[in-house]
Amino acid sequence: MRVGFPRLGSFHVFLKPAFRPLGIDLCEAPPSSRRTLDLGVKKNPETICTPCKLLFGNYVEVLEQGVESLVMFGGPGTCRLGYSARLQESYLHQMGFEFAPYTVDLYHLPAETLRFLRTLAQPTLAELVETLRFLLALIELVDDIERATLRIRPLERQTGTVDRLREKALAEVLALPDRGKLNESRDELLRPFQQVPCREQDPLRIALVGDLYTMLEPFFNLGLEQALGRLGVHVKRSFWLSEMSRNMLQAALLHRGHTIERLKAGTPYLARNIGGFAQSTVGEAALFAEGDVDGLIHLAPFNCTPEVMAHNVLLSMQRERGIPFLSLSFDEQSGRAGLLTRLEAFVDILERRRERRPAPDPPTGWRTWVSFPLSGVIQDLEGKLSEVATTVLKDFTTRESGQATTSRNRSDIQAEKDQ
Ligand code: SF4
Repeated sequence: MRVGFPRLGSFHVFLKPAFRPLGIDLCEAPPSSRRTLDLGVKKNPETICTPCKLLFGNYVEVLEQGVESLVMFGGPGTCRLGYSARLQESYLHQMGFEFAPYTVDLYHLPAETLRFLRTLAQPTLAELVETLRFLLALIELVDDIERATLRIRPLERQTGTVDRLREKALAEVLALPDRGKLNESRDELLRPFQQVPCREQDPLRIALVGDLYTMLEPFFNLGLEQALGRLGVHVKRSFWLSEMSRNMLQAALLHRGHTIERLKAGTPYLARNIGGFAQSTVGEAALFAEGDVDGLIHLAPFNCTPEVMAHNVLLSMQRERGIPFLSLSFDEQSGRAGLLTRLEAFVDILERRRERRPAPDPPTGWRTWVSFPLSGVIQDLEGKLSEVATTVLKDFTTRESGQATTSRNRSDIQAEKDQ
């Protein structure tokens, strides 16, 4: 069965090979372009957000390829995603497309994946388990490729090397037939990234928080990650699908882990879910503000209500925590030249800020190779030991000086008596 799928970053790279063994031929929409956007703008109400317009353009472009079924993104109803899928389905039928819609709730991806597989392929339990294992391994691999790209891009000696490697590696992932082959090829796929000639320097670290679609879709964010990388910035994404599944499981079973920490960190600023990704935007920003990033970039589609609220919360967080942040809002009119100017100015400010900041003490000897979480434990121990040592030393010094004073007093008294 041929199933159409809209563009969302590199999601199709792991979904396509994972579902292939079950007979689901996932056809991804062509990369978003000006035409995609125009299709969405023409047919949708003006007030609907740009990601929804772009998704509509994706639906049209993939239906033009003759797919029988179509995956559409929906949501629990707290933002425009809640009704846009329904609305757009009727527009597509009005345009004469015949297809079976399949609406996926973007906020509950793990449960939705299971429902999707059970509805479209009715796999046996063994097939289902194997598909999920293959899917998780693929997600992990794609995330590793993306992480390596973000880490190396600001340091590569020859601009563009890592982008070419990324394209090649993702194309090879798309062709992987099963988990066995993936395990065999994993190291081979990642090795070229370790061999890219790089400069020795500590790049600026900027975290991206905000709307998921804006973060992941390079056409909409105007190639933001690449632009930052080429300005010498190590981009830290707040969203990784491989981590999300682990975190959700940890939170559900043990009530701990990153999801719970994010919720705790964000609650003083935003106590309830107001829809979209606002709550996770605020929580991630609060966690990054405690970490080692130089600045934050908040990404929001122009008229996205949840992110407008999150923006206001981030302003107060900035005043309180002193973390620099840049808010970028994207719509149909956004241009790359304007974006680059703002990024250059922000990077410039962060570089000057870093120059003024006193350098932290470099880790000494053995501490450089001890890895987390051991290093954390040892650093705690170190802190406690040094506290104890300071107290003992203080006591000792006080006693010594007390004795010295007493003996000096005694000798002074004796000398006075002798006189
Ligand atoms: S989160 Fe914002 S941009 Fe995304 S669908 Fe909802 S309203 Fe639109």
